[in-house]
Amino acid sequence: MIPQNFEYSAPNTLSEALALLSSGNAKVLAGGMSLIPLMKLRLAAPEHLVDLGRVPDLKAIREEGGSVRIGATVTHYEIESSPLIRAKCPLLAEAASNIGDVQVRNMGTIGGSIAHADPAADYPASLLALEAQVRIASAKGERTARIEEFLVDALSTALEPGEIVREVIVPIETAGTGVSYQKMVQPASGFAIVGAAVRVRKSGGKVAFVRVGITGLAAKGFRAAAVEKLIEGTAGSAADVQKAANVVADGVDANSDLSASAAYRRQMAKVYTARALTQALARIS
Ligand SMILES: Cc1cc2nc3c(=O)[nH]c(=O)nc-3n(C[C@H](O)[C@H](O)[C@H](O)COP(=O)(O)OP(=O)(O)OC[C@H]3O[C@@H](n4cnc5c(N)ncnc54)[C@H](O)[C@@H]3O)c2cc1C
Repeated sequence: MIPQNFEYSAPNTLSEALALLSSGNAKVLAGGMSLIPLMKLRLAAPEHLVDLGRVPDLKAIREEGGSVRIGATVTHYEIESSPLIRAKCPLLAEAASNIGDVQVRNMGTIGGSIAHADPAADYPASLLALEAQVRIASAKGERTARIEEFLVDALSTALEPGEIVREVIVPIETAGTGVSYQKMVQPASGFAIVGAAVRVRKSGGKVAFVRVGITGLAAKGFRAAAVEKLIEGTAGSAADVQKAANVVADGVDANSDLSASAAYRRQMAKVYTARALTQALARIS
């Protein structure tokens, strides 16, 4: 099918883009990887598309004040291959390298991915483990939201009408942290059936810091606080890892679809959480 007719604008500045978005039924276009298929299926029928692709402010990757700031239209490939992100936020680079295929990584953007909020998207697990923030802009001003606040539900975010993701703010990784993103891939689409992102540090032979983010299991990505609690303070042995990973799906309303039943996802979440914990522990330098 072809999409319904729509108006198309490609502004050159952020203020122009925000002004267009404040003026009615306009929708943002970024990489088009999720939006264009929805429009072709007529599941989305925006009257006006505002293409962010020519706004230079949104394409930057820069280090500022202990964080790496990634513009909304930075592509998955640019994240995966950026020397700055690979050095300062390696978990995010690893997550980006797991997204879809080469074409999707070349076109799809971090802003588009988190704004679309697919429950099976890769970024939420690592952004949650990284305690990232989202800088949001509109014609009225700016605000910043923690990623937990930003992700509201399946395909639903904290963005209000007229607001866009301006950048994603990721704290620079602390030295001595082991990180890993482990994903069970849906082979047809590349999306995550489940994915687990882990950051871990040890002190005196014990796990002193751990963050675990999970995607694919529930309607939205979440921090696996129960897993973190169980592994913290242990030596991080294989038995400690398994015991902690086993609680990852406790109390979680697991997704069920054509790719995987809820019971299967729960089981795979344990397996991939254990893998991510094991690899992150092995990568502590
Ligand atoms: C075949 C295929 C395989 C894929 N596999 C994976 C995978 O394995 N893992 C994964 O995580 N993803 C996967 N994706 C999704 C991909 O990562 C997309 O890039 C992403 O979901 C949408 O990003 P986009 O830049 O293309 O956004 P678009 O499709 O342009 O936009 C998506 C939505 O976000 C809104 N939007 C875009 N940018 C902004 C912004 N800055 N502020 C506010 N709203 C905005 C749009 O209005 C639209 O509603 C796959 C997609 C395809 C087509």
